[in-house]
Order: sequence, then structure tokens, then C-alpha cells
Amino acid sequence: MEQFLLGTNWKMHKTFSEAEEYAIGLDKLIKKYPMYSYFIIPPYTHLKQMQQALAQTPVMIGAQNMHWADEGAYTGEISPKWLHDLEIQIAELGHSERRQYYQENDEDLNKKVKAALRYKMTPLLCVGEYGKDKAYGVTPEVLRRQLKIGLFGLTDEEAKKLWIAYEPVWAIGESGTPAAPDYVEKVHGVIRRQLVELFGEAGNIIPILYGGSVDPQNCVELARCRDVDGLFIGRSAWDLKQFEQIINLLS
Ligand code: PGA
Repeated sequence: MEQFLLGTNWKMHKTFSEAEEYAIGLDKLIKKYPMYSYFIIPPYTHLKQMQQALAQTPVMIGAQNMHWADEGAYTGEISPKWLHDLEIQIAELGHSERRQYYQENDEDLNKKVKAALRYKMTPLLCVGEYGKDKAYGVTPEVLRRQLKIGLFGLTDEEAKKLWIAYEPVWAIGESGTPAAPDYVEKVHGVIRRQLVELFGEAGNIIPILYGGSVDPQNCVELARCRDVDGLFIGRSAWDLKQFEQIINLLS
């Protein structure tokens, strides 16, 4: 497995000046802690700015979503071709907010995963169950379905380029409750086994990140779990002081 991954999705946050300030701080931070692989996923409008601000650093830049078509009558959408032209490295696909508020389904996500691969981006496919699924004990079934459909038709070779983020919907955001590390370890095991079933040996090298209310209190235990190859952090990484606290605790 490569270096432990640490990344953040800004969602719909940060002005341009806040973004600029963040990039300056992040540059300093990664020089202090060069042992991790960092990525940030700003809003589309900030992509170019962040790319320029972080050009001299190894920080990878991703987009929060994209369409699967190269072009067409899709007002308001973003083409994978443009992201490729911008040299964006990661396409975050299927965040639970996209699934929940914009009705993205697994079939759509499968097209997006293929489009990302076509344009040489790392598809970062997010999967996760609702609290209700957890209560009924159907988390493994829900995740297997999301993975089987979302990754349908990929070759083992293509699978090696994927990243998966496990983000239980009930653990995300202000109203979320952090997931217990033993639960996360169990679920990451389910995901790993599914990936191996789909792609053989290639399934073993796909990084599986955990996301959902990661903070300084729980980051160490979560990072230690088997099959947790990175942390995908929202709120606690938007403030660089808190992000540094997390990185420091992990080191
Ligand atoms: P959070 O967000 O860390 O603020 O819970 C995680 C996410 O949505 O990826």
C-alpha cells in the first residue's frame, strides 16, 4: 500500500481569499509532515486557483463531481474532458450529499467512474449506508450493491486506479455521530472482500478511505483500523489548525 492518504472535500465552502490563505498554510503543513499523500477537493470555481497556489507541492487536486458525457445539452454540468484539460487528478463521485439531494444513483455513478478512467483521473467512489440500513443490519448488502453496480464492467487493470471512500451517511456532518473504530474495521473488511471478489489481486491494492466526523478525538483509532488506507475529512480539515492537530496526532 502507498502512503497513507489524507484529504478533504470543501463542499460549498470558502471564498477565494480563504482558499488562498488555506493553500499557503497547507504548503507549510505538508513540508512539516511530508510522510502522507495529501489531496484537496475544492469547488469547481476554485480548481484553477488551488492548482496554481499548490503547483510546487505534491498535493493532488480533485473535483467534487462531474458529468459522464464529454459534452451535450446538460446545463450546469461539468464535463470530464474539461477536468482532464485542467489536469485535475481526482474525481470524487457519489458523495452521499450528491446521492441524497441530487438523486445520483449507482448506474449514473458507474458511467461517471468509467468517464473518469477514460480521462485518466482517479475515481474516488464514495459509498455508505443510511442509519436505517445499519439499524436493520443490511450495511454489507447496501455496500456490496453500491460497489457492484458503481464498478460494473471495469477490468482488473482499471480497478487498480480506483480509490474508495467509506462514508456512512449517519456519521457525516453536524448532525452525524462518529462511527466506532471496530465498526469501521468490520465494514472496511466487507468492502475489501467485495473488491477482491470483483477484481482479484487488484482489489487488494485499492485504497479504502474512511470519512464521516473524523476529528482529533477519533483520528488515531480510525487510522489504525485494518484496511483503512486514508482519512477523508470534512469540517475538521477546513480549519488548518485542527487539520494540523490531526496530522500531528497521527504522526
Ligand atoms: P465531515 O464530512 O468530516 O464534516 O463529517 C465528511 C464528508 O462529508 O466527507
